[in-house]
Amino acid sequence: MTYEGFETLAIHAGQEADAATGAVAVPIYQTSTYRQDGVGGLRGGYEYTRTGNPTRAALEECVAALEGGVRGLAFASGMAAEDTLLRTIAKPGDHLIIPGDAYGGTFRLVSKVLERWGVAWDAVDLSDPDAVRARVRPETVAIWVETPTNPLLNIADIAALGEVAHASGALLVVDNTFASPYLQRPIRLGADVVVHSTTKYLGGHSDVVGGALVVADPELGERLAFHQNTMGAVAGPFDAWLTLRGIKTLAVRMDRHCANAERVVAELERHPEVSAVLYPGMPEHPGHKTASEQMSGFGGMVSFRLRGGEEAALRVCDRARVFTLAESLGGVESLIEHPGRMTHASTAGSALEVPNDLVRISVGIESADDLVEDLRQALEP
Ligand SMILES: *Cc1c(COP(=O)(O)O)cnc(C)c1O
Repeated sequence: MTYEGFETLAIHAGQEADAATGAVAVPIYQTSTYRQDGVGGLRGGYEYTRTGNPTRAALEECVAALEGGVRGLAFASGMAAEDTLLRTIAKPGDHLIIPGDAYGGTFRLVSKVLERWGVAWDAVDLSDPDAVRARVRPETVAIWVETPTNPLLNIADIAALGEVAHASGALLVVDNTFASPYLQRPIRLGADVVVHSTTKYLGGHSDVVGGALVVADPELGERLAFHQNTMGAVAGPFDAWLTLRGIKTLAVRMDRHCANAERVVAELERHPEVSAVLYPGMPEHPGHKTASEQMSGFGGMVSFRLRGGEEAALRVCDRARVFTLAESLGGVESLIEHPGRMTHASTAGSALEVPNDLVRISVGIESADDLVEDLRQALEP
């Protein structure tokens, strides 16, 4: 029987009952190596866990199915996935275009590590495809897209940027961490590679760090698998299992994240201490129209700015109780943070610096009333 519903894929893709025992949950194959039936007699192709592991393979197949790609690869972290991808597609002399407000870790990887190896880059406002086209060079190997962006929640038009990339033979890479495949499937819109920090919504429970890549082209998939094995930053079996377990409930969690975010946004919008709310679900958000076309919901990430400046922003972070003061996002529990001092501190002094009156929240799936009440008390002057 074949199936293609998102929720069915999340629960079943890559997760047939175990052939040996019938175990319904994919077993954690906590092994480094596999007994061979005579030299070279591999069972199911498994030889050594860096190269392949059945628990990781289940996760890789599931993520590929959810993104509508041909191959998935799972890594020890989102940054390990990014590093492996970039070192697969770029060599000295090549050029990358990255978002003007890229995830801080991506910016650090490109500007502090890849640059030393001779890879040039430009940070460009991706909400303007013409500005991106103007910066593409013959050496440009990829346009790296985040949408919505972290932490400013800007929206980029994936299909339009795909045309810009493909017109010059570059790849379109989309970091889909914020939306998750439940809300946005970039490969359908023309992306060549989807990147995930599975640490966030896919894992969903703040209990595991991981990353994934999904590709639309099997040949690129082969090259990535070669580099994944060669560089070795693979997801361990237990981490892969936790991520798979999280993915089973992705759809229902995302529905609640979106609904709770809407409640929180409504409260923030009318609050006198808040000078601006950044959320693509708001009709006045500059990316609202594009977001409505390419996403099926607006997600659980919300940022807002305080009239009282940085001091007020830090005070809200300190006072919140249901929202936990912590980095990261996408878990069932609500988190709050000050990007300028926390997740995006590494962009200070650069073109990617974020405003210091900005607070970012990851709206969890607790009772919406408690979340709204908590923000209200934290915002009292
Ligand atoms: C967290 C994050 C990453 C990095 O992933 P890790 O799992 O922390 O290594 C990359 N991109 C975005 C958008 C993220 O939020």
